[in-house]
Order: sequence, then structure tokens, then C-alpha cells
Amino acid sequence: AHGTRHVRICAGTSCFVSAGDHTVPLAEAALGVQPGHASADGSVSLAAAYCLGYCYASPTALDGHTPITGPDLGDRLLSPEHPVAAAPQIPYHNASRQAVTLAGLTGAEDSWQVWPQIVTTGSPHAVRAEVALAGLRGRGGAEFPVADKWQAACRNPAPRFVVANGDEGDPGSFCDRLLLESDPDRVLEGLALAGFATGANRGVVFVRSEYPIAVGRMQAAVEAARAAGHLGTGVHGSSFDFDVEVVQGAGSYVAGEETALLHAVQGLRGSVRPRPPYPTESGLAGHPTVVNNIETLTAVPWVLRHGGNTYAQLGNKVETGTKLVCLSQRFRHPGVYEVEFGVPLRYIVDTLGGGLKPGYTLRALQVGGPLGGFLSPDDLDTPLLAEALAEAGVSLGHGSLVAIDDRVTARELLRHVWSFAAAESCGTCTPCRVGTRRGRELVDLLPADAENTLSQQENLLDVMGAGSLCAFGRGVSAAVRSLVRVYQDELRTGGR
Ligand code: SF4
Repeated sequence: AHGTRHVRICAGTSCFVSAGDHTVPLAEAALGVQPGHASADGSVSLAAAYCLGYCYASPTALDGHTPITGPDLGDRLLSPEHPVAAAPQIPYHNASRQAVTLAGLTGAEDSWQVWPQIVTTGSPHAVRAEVALAGLRGRGGAEFPVADKWQAACRNPAPRFVVANGDEGDPGSFCDRLLLESDPDRVLEGLALAGFATGANRGVVFVRSEYPIAVGRMQAAVEAARAAGHLGTGVHGSSFDFDVEVVQGAGSYVAGEETALLHAVQGLRGSVRPRPPYPTESGLAGHPTVVNNIETLTAVPWVLRHGGNTYAQLGNKVETGTKLVCLSQRFRHPGVYEVEFGVPLRYIVDTLGGGLKPGYTLRALQVGGPLGGFLSPDDLDTPLLAEALAEAGVSLGHGSLVAIDDRVTARELLRHVWSFAAAESCGTCTPCRVGTRRGRELVDLLPADAENTLSQQENLLDVMGAGSLCAFGRGVSAAVRSLVRVYQDELRTGGR
């Protein structure tokens, strides 16, 4: 009997930039199936994904668990027997004074170095105090102080849970995939420390379904950690019990939002619910739950080993420490870079990224995924700091930087953003559910009557910005505004 062939084709921004809107129709034609469907005999299914996390090597598809990047894509889709070159590993590089998040990957230090000592002789209060001293903030986009979130959970009665949020749904970002697949031990050590700091005896690593390789690596790491005594009952002879379960998601962007993520962990639909109550009061099964992003957790072992003060000396006074940024395929040197907060974007784009590949000119920089927004090349003196980026009209999100070259037209890009928004809106609230579809319709009216269409779009953005229940709808609104700013001439004149 033939097994079912599951193909996922990446519709993320880097794949869109590298191949236009061609990849999804190409896959549809090659497989004879529409996205979201299976063939009549059930032998093949196709799904479009935002995104698969191979933005440094776009365009990309996953054929089962086999990644296919670049020119092999079309041949492989037509013929499952077509041999494909192994997808390139994610290039990574430390560009900060200290490798913190990349400490394990760059060989600077091993994992599970601080855990045995902390769990046997440390105190939860001291761990929280050290992380507070570091000034560590959540790296998933909201930048909430980590120690404050832990403290909030501690105020509520046990049992408590800690969740590692591996739902890297920002198309353009692949730093969590790098950490989950290549340094799962550090993720687990960070989660264990978060569990100890909050008195949680159960941890969950939530991995999005688009990262099937990461699921297996994390599961293997959990088993190895149990065998080594890092997890279990009375860890390392202490009185603290801690165990971890790896849960695979079902494929939805807003599952990255805390309340939606917790629904998904419990096997429910990944939809958003209003906050409060916050997860630190009522999360998994109604118990206090801390949700921390993967990159955030991987900084925790370093902070405890070197001290919060040492960490706080990295980066900027306002925003301490380091951040991973992901540079997309159009850069001359794509990959993951660890940088300190406060460096100018120009340093990242030109010095680290080496500018664009020969033959391409930078027209816009997408920062933080489709909800982050767009900057023009004139904005590159902006430092990598939340406040400065907000003033420039964007937000950092997961730290993706997608180079948009001058061959991509303003309309195509605008349609791409609205299509993403319409596909990924969870549908719970009307401004976002209806608004994202209306936005996509409006793009199709351009370039005729541009003034009128753009002013209708403005009204729509006002409604979505003010009335959306979660950061998704508000983020889409802000991101579209930033696109209109960068591309206003083209959009107004109906030119490219
Ligand atoms: Fe869902 Fe969008 Fe409303 Fe958020 S803003 S709750 S994603 S419909």
C-alpha cells in the first residue's frame, strides 16, 4: 500500500520575495491538489504554510519531513522519486561581545552546567532575583520582564505549569527552529530553571507542526535529560520534581498568542480568549501557567552561570542583553546572528548581512514578520531597540529581517500581507475576521481609483487597530500602515 504524501509549501515572506506568488500555484499544478485538500484517492495532500523556517534558503517545501529548498523544488513536487539535495543547515554567527543564546551552538559552553547546583542548593527567589537583575525580557515580541511574569505566577496557588512557546509563527524568523533542532538541551535547561523559579513541577515544550524535525529532537533531548537525572522525581537528590512533555501544534499562527497557545496545548482549537485572567492566574487546566518564548529560555542558564549583572552589561541600558536576528535569503549572507540591543539596523543589514545578493537592490526591510512592519532603506540608522523601532512604525517581533528587493511591486507585497492576515486570523473577533478579508479585496481594486481605495483601507485599519481583540489584528493594522508609508508613491500613482 502507498502511504499518503503530505506536502507543505511555504508561503512566507522570504519565499514570496524569492519566487513571487508562484510557489503555491506551482505545487498545486504539480500535485493536482488544491492547498488545504487531499487528492480523491487520498494519496497526496497539500497545505500552504506561513512559514517553514527555511527563509535563508527560499523557496521551500516540506515533502513529509524532507525539506526541499531552491531549484530542486519544482522537480521534486512533480516526482516524489526525484532526489533532492539536503537542505542547507541554518548558518549562525555570534556578533555580540558574549555568545549568550548561541553559547551552546558556538561551543562556548555546554548545557546542564548550572541546573544540578541550582536545584540542590539554590532558591527560587534567588533565581528570580538574578533574572530580574539581568533585565531579561521576553523575546517573543511583547518584551515583558521575565522575572515579573514568574513572580506573578508565584502569587497564585500550585500546581503551576511552565510552557516553552515554540510556536514561531512570524514568517521570516527561524531562530527558534535553530534552537529547538540544534540546541534542545539548552531549551530544556532554561525551562527547568523557569520551573524551579516558579515552583512548577510540569513543563511543556510546544512545537509548531511546521517544525517536525524539532519535535523529534526535543523528544530525544527530554529522554536523555531523564536518563541523566536532570528531570524526574527528586531531581539530583533534591526535593524538587520536574518533568517535561513535548506537544506538537496543529498549524495556526495565533497559536503563538499565549491564550491561544494554551488552548492548543490542551488539544483545543488555537483561538484567542480575552485577558484577564492572564495565564499566570489561570492557564493550563485553570492553573497558574508561565509561557516563555524559546529564545528567552535559552538565555536563562547563561544568566545564572555568569550573573545578572554581567548580562545587564550587554546591549543597551534600556534594553539589556542580546537578541537573535534572522536574515532572509535575499541577503548576501543570510542566517541567524546574535547581536546586542542598540546596534543600528544598518550594521546588521550591511556589515553582517553584506547587503543584498548581486543584482538586487534593497527597497524595503520587513522587520518582525508581517505583524512587525516595513522600513525604507533611509530608516536603517534606527537602533535595534523597541522604542526606536516603534517610533519608526515597526516592532521587532521574533527578530526576523526580510530583505524586499526592488523587483517586488508594492501591490504584490500589500496583497501578500493581507493574504497572510486573512489566512491566519483566528476569526474570534469581527474587526479582524472581516477586516482581513476586506483588506485583500481592496488590494485587487488597485491601481484604479487609488486615492479612494487607499482611504477606504485607512478606515479599515482604524477599525482593526482599535477594535481587535488581540495583538494579531492590531499588528496587521500597524504593519499595513508602515507598508503604505514606505511605498506611498507607487501605491498612490498606481505605478509599480
Ligand atoms: Fe483572532 Fe484576529 Fe481577533 Fe486576534 S484580532 S482574536 S487573531 S480574530
